[in-house]
Amino acid sequence: MTIKNHTFETEVNQLLHLVTHSLYSNPDIFVRELVSNASDACDKLRFLATSDDSLYENDGELAIKIEIDKDAKTLTISDNGIGMNEADVIDNLGTIAKSGTKAFLDKLSDADKKDGNLIGQFGVGFYSGFIVAEKITVETRKAGEPSSEGVRWVSDGTGSFTTETIDKPTRGTSITLHLKDEFVEREDGEYSYLDRYKIKSLVSKYSDHISLPIQMRKEVWQEDAEQDENAPVPNGEMILTDEWETINKASALWTRTPSEIGDDEYSEFYKTVSYDFDEPLTWTHNRVEGRVQYTQLLYIPKKAPFDLYAREQQRGLKLYVKRVFIMDDAEQLLPMYLRFVKGVIDSADLPLNVSREILQESRDVKSIREGNARRVLTLLASLASSEDEAKQAKFADFYKEFGDVIKEGLGEDKANQERIAKLLRYATSTNDSVETSFADYKARMKDGQKAIYYLTAENLVSAKNSPQLELFNKKGIEVILMTSKVDEWAMNFLTELDGTPLQNIAKGAVDLGDLTDDAEKEEVKKQEEAFKPVVERLKGVLGGRAKDVRVTSRLVDSPACLVVGDGELTPQMAQMLKAMGQ
Ligand code: ADP
Ligand code: MG
Repeated sequence: MTIKNHTFETEVNQLLHLVTHSLYSNPDIFVRELVSNASDACDKLRFLATSDDSLYENDGELAIKIEIDKDAKTLTISDNGIGMNEADVIDNLGTIAKSGTKAFLDKLSDADKKDGNLIGQFGVGFYSGFIVAEKITVETRKAGEPSSEGVRWVSDGTGSFTTETIDKPTRGTSITLHLKDEFVEREDGEYSYLDRYKIKSLVSKYSDHISLPIQMRKEVWQEDAEQDENAPVPNGEMILTDEWETINKASALWTRTPSEIGDDEYSEFYKTVSYDFDEPLTWTHNRVEGRVQYTQLLYIPKKAPFDLYAREQQRGLKLYVKRVFIMDDAEQLLPMYLRFVKGVIDSADLPLNVSREILQESRDVKSIREGNARRVLTLLASLASSEDEAKQAKFADFYKEFGDVIKEGLGEDKANQERIAKLLRYATSTNDSVETSFADYKARMKDGQKAIYYLTAENLVSAKNSPQLELFNKKGIEVILMTSKVDEWAMNFLTELDGTPLQNIAKGAVDLGDLTDDAEKEEVKKQEEAFKPVVERLKGVLGGRAKDVRVTSRLVDSPACLVVGDGELTPQMAQMLKAMGQ
């Protein structure tokens, strides 16, 4: 057999240099990259085999196998996917085929190149093996080609590689990493990629949801034939068997058809993505076919996390690209006011090497975020408007936990303002429990009433005793009582609903329009005349401390009240801003 020498393309050398110098802090990622390559290779075979069954060579059980050889200090990841011939190997493992990668490398500044995180998230594919390996051997044979056409590729990742033709009866690719000493046994015990449990935990972290089985050899406990009678536990050791066991779940729940998934399966999955011990309140699972194709599985928790209002809190969804885990807490996938939503997005349209930086700018991500927001709001609306009592109860539970957070959406998400407003519930001057929607209120409005009246206050008691309410109570006009901290801020963004204006009765002059009859108007005029001297005196006494002093018809029992001008801060708002240190 002749061994041929090849040199890497210049860019590969650059990339290898980056990989080995910058990624020491996050070496684990090679598992994800190599397993995902193996999975891609199986996907490719499966696709080609749909038109040519013979490519399976009577072995249609696609799987990925991981083997540890402690003596040789190697870790081998094999697949029975599409495989490569010599030309493929030289093309794929000697150059950087993807133009995107080249462009990315060119764009990186020197500082960026030192930032392992950036490069790690960007993804370095096959070459990531060189973070942990001093030498990599690839043995591969393309599906449908004779065993004698196998190829062995060997490199130490410094400038060159060799290829030779080998006999390889089994189709597909096996990649053997000859581990660097520091990744076999480190003094801090941190990384040993010869440790079966380490590998298993990495597979479950990154690749649980690869839909192919990922297998390792089964280990069994074998007791020593001769036992020390006095030993508290029997002597023995774990030994490797020839049997294979599947170590991943091998099923990406979200890729399955919703009608075939049980509620308990959805609940279990929720617990793994949310780290919540409780069941979810509800969820929605859809394949979205639009400008961007993706699967969304979104859960609403039962309880708000304790840090719902902490700005630094972790939020966002798990992002997968073609079933390969990319990142946790991808906050770009949800607007801020839906930060309590948990779940998974899987899109085939995003690159595997997408980073947080790329997510921020991507139009595809923007369209996924908008799709997610709409879907969550639709789900909530369907609970809110359901005839089913269980669903109504769920909505009430939801509202108790998260009602204040979604109010933030009135300001944050203008496009969905109306959908959000329809979900909001309040107490009113005639009904203490927080259950009146704007629509309910409108249905109860008096003939001639032109606006939805509301009042913001610190709590229900002070709202109900507010002098501003007197006239409304006297006339029997219902007023919505808003008592949460966020209300006043949020209501700045909501000025009308389906053509009906919203009016804060603590602001400016309240025009009751047709609800005031002519006799009352006449009376007000008379009073204004009669009290002119008093008003003038009050203005003089108060000086600059009051902007204006007016005779009002809004009070019934109280002699006076404070109001703020339209567009000015109410006392509650002023207090809230002060509390926030503004
Ligand atoms: P990417 O997977 O993003 O294309 P990689 O650097 O991970 O980039 O892999 C480079 C190429 O090498 C792949 O596109 C594929 O053609 C080939 N390759 C890598 N691993 C395998 C494998 N296990 N089986 C077949 N081809 C592979
Ligand atoms: Mg890859």
